Amino acid sequence: MNKLQSFKSVLASIPAVHEIQNLPKVQKLISQHGHSLVTSAIRSVQSDFRDLLTASGENNLGKINNDKFIKQLKNKVLILTENTLKPIFNLTGTVLHTNFGRALLPDKAIKSIELIASDASNLEYDITSGERGDRDNHIDEKLCRLTGAEAATIVNNNAAAVTLVLNSLARRKEVLVSRGELIEIGGSFRLPDIMSSSGCKLHEVGTTNRTYLQDFEEALGPRTALILKAHTSNYKLQGFTSDVKEKDFANFSKKNNIPFVVDLGSGSIIDLSYLGLPKCQTPAETIKNGADLVTFSGDKLLGGPQCGIIVGRKDLISRIKKNPLKRALRCDKMTIAAFSELLKLYENPKKAKTEIPTLRLISRRKDEIQKLAKRMHPTIKSSLSGIATVQIIACKSQVGSGSFPVEFLPSFGFKIEQKLKNRSSSQFLNSISSAFRALPVPIVGRINKNAFLLDLRCLENETLFAKQFQYLNLKELES
Ligand SMILES: *Cc1c(COP(=O)(O)O)cnc(C)c1O
Repeated sequence: MNKLQSFKSVLASIPAVHEIQNLPKVQKLISQHGHSLVTSAIRSVQSDFRDLLTASGENNLGKINNDKFIKQLKNKVLILTENTLKPIFNLTGTVLHTNFGRALLPDKAIKSIELIASDASNLEYDITSGERGDRDNHIDEKLCRLTGAEAATIVNNNAAAVTLVLNSLARRKEVLVSRGELIEIGGSFRLPDIMSSSGCKLHEVGTTNRTYLQDFEEALGPRTALILKAHTSNYKLQGFTSDVKEKDFANFSKKNNIPFVVDLGSGSIIDLSYLGLPKCQTPAETIKNGADLVTFSGDKLLGGPQCGIIVGRKDLISRIKKNPLKRALRCDKMTIAAFSELLKLYENPKKAKTEIPTLRLISRRKDEIQKLAKRMHPTIKSSLSGIATVQIIACKSQVGSGSFPVEFLPSFGFKIEQKLKNRSSSQFLNSISSAFRALPVPIVGRINKNAFLLDLRCLENETLFAKQFQYLNLKELES
């Protein structure tokens, strides 16, 4: 046989789809994973073999018998059935990271989700009267008690909350916003865009750094329907600045009968200074200052499930709840189950500090993190020996998601640097960070100057973390 003939005979030996499908082992795969998935895996394995043959140009594969094929098929099915959404170790030092799903839920909230998700519930049903109920009933009383508001409701997220407020109270009308607060939050929340998609006209007031009440008085017109103050989540105006106090806004808006709305963004329901954090304004204080409505996120500093909370005046909340958009933006039962448990934890700030993971992580003391680093050091050091040096270093974490934009939390972590200078620093950093991301539970760190940094603030499962290092593949970095 010449080369071409042998190539053709190997090509011809790749089993046909129906042939493979009928094998008992494959029948078993089909009953487990379904006909369509397994068939598409078979086609994909066929095509891999063909590509391999064509690329190598000659036959060093030998004939493709059924056993060879099934081995590849099993791998392929494994890849196709693996969940794309999976846990990771967030060692970036940013506690609330939108890319990593923000807040981790308290155990009690998770138990409550399980309970409510696996059975029928009284989500919208009044058990006493046997009549239709309102899903907000499970959370609004607790929210009112914690914020001092008259009424409350929740929707899918805070972007939805702001959209719903604007659309319910100011559609086809004007909304006054200071030029210093025309914010963009990462991930396409831009206030001017939210404004137009809510059907409102944005009326910019004042200048970027200084805005006075007088500017608002001058901007007020017959089409003005709302005054919006947005928390400058991810930046701070410093220097020659001036803005209008909430109390002055409140007086002004009452006098003119125009609702005053504050978007707090990352609102904490309690004052977190007892955790050593800087003072941040709570929804309760905002209401006390005279805001008619306050909106904030459920999965930022609050540490709960993704949702957007609206609290404030009863008449306004009831207008909001009548808007058909509310139906489109409503929360599901799992969110309500989790959020209701979260709110219970806030009744006792001491408990909140340990049982709400977000609060536990941001208040974690640096000496505790240093001890953790010392415990983990031998494992990581020995698994990188010969390739990289691993040093325990002091570093700084941040809260993230627009909470405390400029404050940093003192922390500890690992600084990983190239030992062999056999490649460029950027090649080294790319390879090492991708090797850590390729682990069964990916470890995500950050690159700082010429080092790969793992901030240990958010590391709690030490056993699972240590276990990852047996899978670390450093082939690319050896030699
Ligand atoms: C984060 C944030 C939002 C958006 O909230 P999501 O819950 O992400 O939808 C809106 N406004 C402010 C001020 C924010 O900080």
